[in-house]
Amino acid sequence: MNDCIFCKIVEGDIPSKKIYEDDKVLAFQDIKPEAPVHVLIIPKAHIESVNNINEENSEIIGHIFLVINKLAKTLEIEKDGYRVVNNCGVNGGQTVPHLHFHLFGGKSFNWPPL
Ligand code: 5GP
Ligand code: ZN
Repeated sequence: MNDCIFCKIVEGDIPSKKIYEDDKVLAFQDIKPEAPVHVLIIPKAHIESVNNINEENSEIIGHIFLVINKLAKTLEIEKDGYRVVNNCGVNGGQTVPHLHFHLFGGKSFNWPPL
């Protein structure tokens, strides 16, 4: 039994506002947006975090960034710029243990982000 929230979103057992989908990747709106654009991009296959990327599954990362490149255009944040964030583990602030990338846009962000 898989209790992963994002696997349930992939399966359609938990509803989400989908922005993009293909056979390997799903992008949907974050339930608690922190910016005018806040989309989560996830592999459909369950990978817990960056710690679990390996020779067998790493191809998905390039594909996810290709999807992010396309989303930036369709969401019209390409010209102004945007931020892509991955949180890994406790110190990284990861709260959902299914690999995901945050795409933030529509405002300007500070650096460093602390
Ligand atoms: P993390 O802190 O793990 O990097 O990010 C997890 C993100 O998932 C948070 O921004 C949180 O708002 C979002 N999130 C958690 N549960 C749900 C949900 O059920 N649906 C959606 N759309 N987003 C969720
Ligand atoms: Zn999962």
